[in-house]
Amino acid sequence: MADVRLSSIAKSFGALTVVRNVDLEIASGELVVFVGPSGCGKSTLLRMIAGLEPISQGKLMIGGADMTDVDPAKRGIAMVFQSYALYPHMTVRENMGFALRFAGMPKAEIAERVASAAKILELDALMERKPGALSGGQRQRVAIGRAIVRHPDVFLFDEPLSNLDAELRVHMRAEIADLHNRLKSTMIYVTHDQVEAMTLADRIVVLKKGEVEQVGSPLDVYNRPANLFVAGFIGSPR
Ligand code: ADP
Ligand code: MG
Repeated sequence: MADVRLSSIAKSFGALTVVRNVDLEIASGELVVFVGPSGCGKSTLLRMIAGLEPISQGKLMIGGADMTDVDPAKRGIAMVFQSYALYPHMTVRENMGFALRFAGMPKAEIAERVASAAKILELDALMERKPGALSGGQRQRVAIGRAIVRHPDVFLFDEPLSNLDAELRVHMRAEIADLHNRLKSTMIYVTHDQVEAMTLADRIVVLKKGEVEQVGSPLDVYNRPANLFVAGFIGSPR
């Protein structure tokens, strides 16, 4: 079953077209990585799926429903950004529950969801701290926790690890892979880092100047790059 379906999606800012003719089906439970150089349209594409950016052309389906023009809050998605955007005056527990409280969810259910996410992310010991007293990696785990508590159908990640140092990035990469294995939810992950894409993805979507150059498993793309651009970007011999 296709969980997310993009049909002829395009985006223009005025006369400038930054995403062109994207067709893609993402299966339920799949982890798909959009990869490509800076400025190729990865964030714009993700933001259109999230509803943070209007879709100029084409159609977006999520879970069988047409979401092309639907309010972001009603798309069943949760997004994790590169900058953690945690509330500095709130504790980790409050940060993780905030969106749910805002949505009017009963306190007991919020507590249950936050506790469950804290366990998954091993945040139990940090729940009463404020973001200022956390490391970069811990902050990013809280940001992921805020997404998990919403029980989204689809997780969207926009370069969530680019602010971390190299060692921590490798560690967090493994944590995200582990999270995907446990939650088995659909995830769309954006990065400009080829190695990150190769290690995380069920399938990779290689983008160049707003267009899809190739879609395939990491091994396929590596072994059979569609063209010189993909070969050069992914680093495979050709
Ligand atoms: P990536 O995430 O791959 O680095 P982006 O999606 O952020 O790329 O940007 C793709 C292109 O769209 C870039 O050329 C960028 O300058 C342009 N762009 C992004 N947002 C806007 C905007 N709000 N107005 C005009 N141009 C934009
Ligand atoms: Mg970006």
